[in-house]
Amino acid sequence: MIRKGPEGFGLKGLAAQNGNMEYEKMLSRLYMSLPEKTVSKERFEIPPLESNVQGKKTIIRNFSQVLRTIKREEKHFYKYFTKETATAATMDEGKLILTGKFYPDAIGRIFNAYVKEYVLCHECSKPDTEIIERSGVKVLKCTACGALSPIKKI
Ligand SMILES: [Zn+2]
Repeated sequence: MIRKGPEGFGLKGLAAQNGNMEYEKMLSRLYMSLPEKTVSKERFEIPPLESNVQGKKTIIRNFSQVLRTIKREEKHFYKYFTKETATAATMDEGKLILTGKFYPDAIGRIFNAYVKEYVLCHECSKPDTEIIERSGVKVLKCTACGALSPIKKI
Protein backbone atom coordinates (compact mmCIF):
# COMPACT_ATOMS: atom_id res chain seq x y z
CA MET A 1 0.00 0.00 0.00
CA ILE A 2 1.31 3.39 -0.96
CA ARG A 3 -0.20 6.08 1.10
CA LYS A 4 0.11 9.61 -0.06
CA GLY A 5 1.73 11.60 2.70
CA PRO A 6 1.48 15.33 3.19
CA GLU A 7 4.43 15.93 0.83
CA GLY A 8 3.18 13.61 -1.84
CA PHE A 9 5.44 10.79 -2.93
CA GLY A 10 8.28 10.20 -5.30
CA LEU A 11 10.65 12.91 -6.43
CA LYS A 12 8.23 15.69 -5.84
CA GLY A 13 7.79 14.67 -2.25
CA LEU A 14 11.54 14.60 -1.75
CA ALA A 15 11.88 17.91 -3.52
CA ALA A 16 9.46 19.44 -1.13
CA GLN A 17 11.73 18.28 1.66
CA ASN A 18 15.00 19.34 0.11
CA GLY A 19 14.05 22.35 -1.91
CA ASN A 20 14.04 22.89 -5.66
CA MET A 21 17.79 22.84 -6.19
CA GLU A 22 18.00 19.31 -4.93
CA TYR A 23 15.08 18.36 -7.10
CA GLU A 24 16.85 19.70 -10.21
CA LYS A 25 20.00 17.79 -9.30
CA MET A 26 18.05 14.63 -8.79
CA LEU A 27 16.36 15.03 -12.14
CA SER A 28 19.62 15.48 -14.00
CA ARG A 29 21.06 12.46 -12.22
CA LEU A 30 18.01 10.50 -13.22
CA TYR A 31 18.45 11.41 -16.88
CA MET A 32 22.12 10.63 -16.79
CA SER A 33 21.46 7.16 -15.50
CA LEU A 34 19.20 6.31 -18.44
CA PRO A 35 20.89 4.08 -21.00
CA GLU A 36 22.31 6.10 -23.89
CA LYS A 37 20.57 4.21 -26.60
CA THR A 38 17.18 2.70 -26.24
CA VAL A 39 17.07 -0.59 -28.12
CA SER A 40 18.48 0.43 -31.46
CA LYS A 41 17.39 -1.89 -34.20
CA GLU A 42 20.53 -3.16 -35.73
CA ARG A 43 20.54 -2.61 -39.43
CA PHE A 44 22.51 -5.09 -41.40
CA GLU A 45 24.68 -3.60 -44.04
CA ILE A 46 26.39 -5.58 -46.72
CA PRO A 47 29.94 -4.34 -46.78
CA PRO A 48 31.42 -3.68 -50.21
CA LEU A 49 34.33 -5.75 -51.46
CA GLU A 50 37.48 -3.68 -51.65
CA SER A 51 39.71 -4.51 -54.51
CA ASN A 52 42.56 -3.23 -56.57
CA VAL A 53 44.17 -4.23 -59.82
CA GLN A 54 47.84 -5.12 -59.61
CA GLY A 55 49.37 -5.84 -62.97
CA LYS A 56 47.39 -8.71 -64.45
CA LYS A 57 45.80 -9.64 -61.17
CA THR A 58 43.03 -8.29 -59.04
CA ILE A 59 43.14 -8.54 -55.30
CA ILE A 60 40.02 -8.46 -53.16
CA ARG A 61 41.53 -7.34 -49.90
CA ASN A 62 38.64 -7.84 -47.49
CA PHE A 63 37.35 -11.11 -48.92
CA SER A 64 37.35 -13.20 -45.70
CA GLN A 65 36.06 -10.35 -43.62
CA VAL A 66 33.09 -9.68 -45.89
CA LEU A 67 32.20 -13.35 -46.18
CA ARG A 68 32.26 -13.60 -42.40
CA THR A 69 29.92 -10.62 -42.17
CA ILE A 70 27.40 -12.09 -44.58
CA LYS A 71 27.86 -15.52 -42.95
CA ARG A 72 28.66 -17.45 -46.04
CA GLU A 73 31.48 -19.86 -46.71
CA GLU A 74 34.44 -18.41 -48.53
CA LYS A 75 34.51 -21.39 -50.85
CA HIS A 76 30.90 -20.86 -51.80
CA PHE A 77 31.44 -17.33 -53.07
CA TYR A 78 34.77 -18.34 -54.55
CA LYS A 79 33.04 -20.99 -56.62
CA TYR A 80 30.35 -18.55 -57.69
CA PHE A 81 32.78 -15.84 -58.64
CA THR A 82 35.14 -18.01 -60.63
CA LYS A 83 32.23 -19.54 -62.49
CA GLU A 84 30.59 -16.21 -63.27
CA THR A 85 33.80 -14.67 -64.53
CA ALA A 86 35.34 -17.84 -65.95
CA THR A 87 38.56 -16.93 -64.27
CA ALA A 88 41.00 -18.58 -61.94
CA ALA A 89 41.40 -17.37 -58.39
CA THR A 90 43.27 -18.27 -55.25
CA MET A 91 42.51 -17.55 -51.64
CA ASP A 92 45.40 -16.20 -49.67
CA GLU A 93 45.39 -14.98 -46.09
CA GLY A 94 41.94 -13.52 -46.17
CA LYS A 95 42.32 -12.15 -49.67
CA LEU A 96 41.02 -13.39 -52.96
CA ILE A 97 43.45 -13.07 -55.83
CA LEU A 98 41.89 -13.14 -59.27
CA THR A 99 43.70 -13.74 -62.50
CA GLY A 100 42.82 -10.86 -64.77
CA LYS A 101 41.75 -7.28 -64.31
CA PHE A 102 38.46 -6.67 -62.59
CA TYR A 103 37.36 -3.23 -61.69
CA PRO A 104 35.34 -2.53 -58.53
CA ASP A 105 32.15 -1.99 -60.57
CA ALA A 106 32.32 -5.42 -62.11
CA ILE A 107 33.16 -7.11 -58.81
CA GLY A 108 30.36 -5.20 -57.11
CA ARG A 109 27.81 -6.35 -59.69
CA ILE A 110 28.77 -9.99 -59.27
CA PHE A 111 28.80 -9.68 -55.50
CA ASN A 112 25.36 -8.03 -55.46
CA ALA A 113 23.94 -10.80 -57.61
CA TYR A 114 25.41 -13.35 -55.21
CA VAL A 115 23.97 -11.60 -52.16
CA LYS A 116 20.56 -11.36 -53.80
CA GLU A 117 20.49 -15.05 -54.60
CA TYR A 118 22.31 -16.60 -51.64
CA VAL A 119 22.05 -14.19 -48.71
CA LEU A 120 18.87 -12.12 -48.82
CA CYS A 121 15.57 -13.88 -48.29
CA HIS A 122 13.71 -14.17 -51.58
CA GLU A 123 10.44 -13.37 -49.82
CA CYS A 124 11.18 -10.61 -47.32
CA SER A 125 14.67 -9.49 -48.43
CA LYS A 126 16.08 -9.78 -44.92
CA PRO A 127 19.60 -11.11 -44.52
CA ASP A 128 18.81 -13.42 -41.59
CA THR A 129 19.19 -16.55 -43.62
CA GLU A 130 21.11 -19.76 -43.80
CA ILE A 131 21.68 -22.29 -46.51
CA ILE A 132 20.31 -25.67 -45.56
CA GLU A 133 19.68 -28.92 -47.34
CA ARG A 134 16.19 -30.26 -47.91
CA SER A 135 15.95 -33.69 -49.46
CA GLY A 136 19.29 -33.25 -51.12
CA VAL A 137 18.52 -29.80 -52.48
CA LYS A 138 20.07 -26.65 -51.12
CA VAL A 139 17.62 -24.00 -50.08
CA LEU A 140 17.80 -20.61 -48.46
CA LYS A 141 16.06 -20.62 -45.11
CA CYS A 142 14.95 -17.31 -43.65
CA THR A 143 14.95 -17.09 -39.87
CA ALA A 144 12.98 -13.84 -40.00
CA CYS A 145 9.90 -14.95 -41.97
CA GLY A 146 10.44 -18.69 -42.22
CA ALA A 147 10.43 -18.81 -46.01
CA LEU A 148 12.31 -21.55 -47.80
CA SER A 149 13.58 -20.49 -51.20
CA PRO A 150 15.26 -22.67 -53.78
CA ILE A 151 18.65 -21.35 -54.80
CA LYS A 152 20.57 -21.84 -57.99
CA LYS A 153 23.22 -24.50 -58.01
CA ILE A 154 26.68 -23.11 -58.45
ZN1 LIG B 1 12.23 -13.88 -45.10
